[in-house]
Amino acid sequence: MGFNKPHYSKKDFKTVSGYIHRIINRNNVTKLEDLQEKLKNVGVESRLLHYHNLKHIMNEMKVGKINGVYKYVDIISESKVMLECYRCEKLKTSKEFLTVHKYKTSKLKICIECIREENKITGENVQELIGIYEYLQHRYAKSLDKSMYSKFWEPVIYGKSSSVKV
Ligand SMILES: [Zn+2]
Repeated sequence: MGFNKPHYSKKDFKTVSGYIHRIINRNNVTKLEDLQEKLKNVGVESRLLHYHNLKHIMNEMKVGKINGVYKYVDIISESKVMLECYRCEKLKTSKEFLTVHKYKTSKLKICIECIREENKITGENVQELIGIYEYLQHRYAKSLDKSMYSKFWEPVIYGKSSSVKV
């Protein structure tokens, strides 16, 4: 593992980015060392505070200096907008939802991960699935319901469905 390469897990990213979020919202941080110090004080492991790790995490978060102060560079950037997936019902950043253009440019209501899962399990082509969900969204725009996104294959494979709530 090269020393200059960022090295951290998704969990590390969540933890550290959460702290950075709070720190830069509450303080005018002008120096990276100050940020490192504050992160150290809240108990972030020193391995995560190495320059390359930290810089990489901040870039991912789109945090950078504006007039000498660390802030979100793009406040309304996609990574800040949270959407709920109609299938897994998890809140995810809008990056995790595809943007479709066929009818009216919009975000799919089902996340990329769920589409991939359906593709893997049913063998249905990803582009087909995107088309199906885009049409569903268009066709039922006014009455779209989460039940339309249930994992329909589960009763077939497992004899029961995890996504249909009784
Ligand atoms: Zn999902």
